[in-house]
Amino acid sequence: MKRIIILFAIAFILGILMRTFAASGLDISVPSLPARGQPFFVSVNSNITVESFHIKWQGIERDIPAIVADNGESSAEFLLPARYDEHGKFTLEVSGKTDGRKLSGSLDIDVADREYEHEELTVDPKFIKVSKENRERAAKERVLAGKAIKTFSTDKLWTIPFARPVQGDISDGYGIRRVFNGKPNSIHSGLDFRAKQGDEIHAVMDGTVVLTADFFYSGRCVFVDHGLGVMTVYMHQSKLLVKKGDKLKTGDVVGLVGATGRVTGPHLHLHLYVQGVAVDPAIPLGIKTDK
Ligand SMILES: [Zn+2]
Repeated sequence: MKRIIILFAIAFILGILMRTFAASGLDISVPSLPARGQPFFVSVNSNITVESFHIKWQGIERDIPAIVADNGESSAEFLLPARYDEHGKFTLEVSGKTDGRKLSGSLDIDVADREYEHEELTVDPKFIKVSKENRERAAKERVLAGKAIKTFSTDKLWTIPFARPVQGDISDGYGIRRVFNGKPNSIHSGLDFRAKQGDEIHAVMDGTVVLTADFFYSGRCVFVDHGLGVMTVYMHQSKLLVKKGDKLKTGDVVGLVGATGRVTGPHLHLHLYVQGVAVDPAIPLGIKTDK
């Protein structure tokens, strides 16, 4: 594998607490600011009772159910994605409805820029000059995956940090711009872990299997919903060991490492979707990929 790193720089901001106290009694806090392509944690508190918080962020709208304390205060904790192709200042809007009274607040969030690597890879030419049959197959698979990714279940089954799916190091980070067989192709929108053919792959958090499939590009894969718009996908497996509807605990085996789909060899590719957007799994996994 020939690998050229053209540019690699990082704007990495940690430990910054952004907080707003709106007059309405709504408190929005973001403990750590994201760079583009990264997910970030948001906590919302209200001193009055609401059923759910309505969130608006970078074109995404979600209703996040509130947890109501004995004293009537409401709160919610969730993840949002900072889109890969945008950076700068964006407004997070939060509102909640309660017995006729409207609660609303907003917070401006600075999404930092981040440079991503560029690399050249050689794969089976069938993945470059894709036949009509395979193009049609991949299009159908995109629709299936798109449906699975839209899943929004209201039970939050995750906490930060996630567990590791395999023990191996990271071989390829999220966001790398890839050139396949000399032609610019796609953005690598997941994280690759070094692993041997047949190694066990573990669920990073509790969740429910929403799709298992054998896709042209992703190979044998498992989609796991962890609730509140957080989903992980485990790709290129040699063998799937779960089925749709299975309830998983953190660490449960979902399948075995393989080299199915568009790959250069056996490894695990992990995708993290947050509110339907593929973001860098490294931060919630507590993995530092920046050099
Ligand atoms: Zn990958």
